[in-house]
Amino acid sequence: MGSLTLTLACVPPKNPNCTTTNTINRTNCIKNLTNCSSYSIPVHFRRLNRINIRLLACNCTSASALSSSLISEPNWIRGDDKAEENEKVFIVVNFYRFVFIRDPEDEVSKHLEFLQGRDIHGRIYMNEQGINAQYSGPSEDALAYVSWLKEDEKFHDILVQISPPIHRHAFPRLKLRYKPSLVQMEGGVSHLPLIDSSMRATPLAPAEWRKRLEAANNIDVSSHLNPSRNIVLLDVRNGYEWDIGHFIGAQRPNVDCFRSTTFGLSGSEDIASDPLANVDKEKTDILMYCTGGIRCDVYSTILRQRGYKKLYTLKGGISHYLQCEGPVEWIGNLFVFDSRLSLPPTSVKHDASTDESLAHGVSDNTVFGKCYVCGSQVSELRHRNCANLDCNLLFLCCSGCMDDLRGCCSSDCTSAARLRPVLPGHERYQKWHYYRDT
Ligand SMILES: [Zn+2]
Ligand SMILES: [Zn+2]
Repeated sequence: MGSLTLTLACVPPKNPNCTTTNTINRTNCIKNLTNCSSYSIPVHFRRLNRINIRLLACNCTSASALSSSLISEPNWIRGDDKAEENEKVFIVVNFYRFVFIRDPEDEVSKHLEFLQGRDIHGRIYMNEQGINAQYSGPSEDALAYVSWLKEDEKFHDILVQISPPIHRHAFPRLKLRYKPSLVQMEGGVSHLPLIDSSMRATPLAPAEWRKRLEAANNIDVSSHLNPSRNIVLLDVRNGYEWDIGHFIGAQRPNVDCFRSTTFGLSGSEDIASDPLANVDKEKTDILMYCTGGIRCDVYSTILRQRGYKKLYTLKGGISHYLQCEGPVEWIGNLFVFDSRLSLPPTSVKHDASTDESLAHGVSDNTVFGKCYVCGSQVSELRHRNCANLDCNLLFLCCSGCMDDLRGCCSSDCTSAARLRPVLPGHERYQKWHYYRDT
């Protein structure tokens, strides 16, 4: 049972002599207004998809004027009926901040208390070094949390990224808790001076990043054999993220999991796959990027400790860049770590002028976006999980291989004991126990 209070007002000019009865008809709620004036009425309801008010107007105003003033009331949707879920607009919100939190356990309880009764799913982690959050929810709940967070001085100018609307949660449930490491790295990150911004890479605004990339890529086109390259574009993500989209000029990271990234660290066995091997630590500009910025903040601190001087990062990461600049110097889609998996740049910025990037995209698409099975080009830049429940590998697949291997990543997997059906379109598999019993 939900409830709200509606304040109704006859739209001026009001006739003080009007005594007509207005009737508000709702699915389960009928109230009679006995005068032409302002009214506050408490309304209790169970199942309402939409506020449905039919006014039998009084003589002093038009029904349409009055009813529209009611329907514009923005804050009335708070039902508990599951049928309403499909009607809501959900958004995905991301933010993080490295800042000293004196009592993170207490901070966690405050957040849990605020989110009580709000429909938020996702991963929100805190510790002495700050906060890292990715979550989804109906926009009013998701944004209420942001406003509440920003009232706290430590968080008031936090960069909040909001992804385009979807129709349901992008995360299975809410995990909000203390976590010893805000980012997963081999050996943890709690010993790193993450709160000290001078240890991190210098953040570049998206426009400045674009300028530098355009300049670097133009030079490379004319003289790409020039050995005195004094700029390195470093993709600080995983190989499979690069596979569906990346900045032009960035080498594919030979990494399956960010926690094991070792670019530029001494003892790296595989020099060929290390974009920072043999670079001049004093003179080379290292332009680092990741999805939202947090991995660069962590990794640049590690590089700073190893003596790299000219470290720059893309402020707010790729998602912020695509919103501000569109897909200029970018090809493909953006990999995201939630149920959506892949976002085309046009979904991030609708009015993006893509002429330039399309020209790049056509030529460069031929060298990336390959089927992990047969190596041919994939038409849809989106990963899928192997249909073998016990493999579950995230892989890119062409439509031919998908048919041949019935959604599996290899022929071995096609004869596995626990196979799931091939998923159509953009769907993802349910939780594993859904298939266990069927
Ligand atoms: Zn294939
Ligand atoms: Zn498999």
